[in-house]
Amino acid sequence: MARIIFFLLLAVLAYMLLKRIAASSRQAPGEDTSTRERFPASAKDEDTVRCEECGVYMPRSEALMTQGKFYCDTHRPKAH
Ligand SMILES: [Zn+2]
Repeated sequence: MARIIFFLLLAVLAYMLLKRIAASSRQAPGEDTSTRERFPASAKDEDTVRCEECGVYMPRSEALMTQGKFYCDTHRPKAH
């Protein structure tokens, strides 16, 4: 009789272990999507350019590009 209880406990433990593995495998793809959501935010930071004269960072759309170099509004070569 004690053996039956032992095997029953073993079966319950095995079931709980499998349930944990299944739960952890379900959480893994969820973590992947959360990290993927963070990538567009970092991609936006890559669009920030640095002024060659003063080193000020600004959005690429606001910067002035001359001969492959970025300049801010005050340091654009045409102003000099
Ligand atoms: Zn500047």
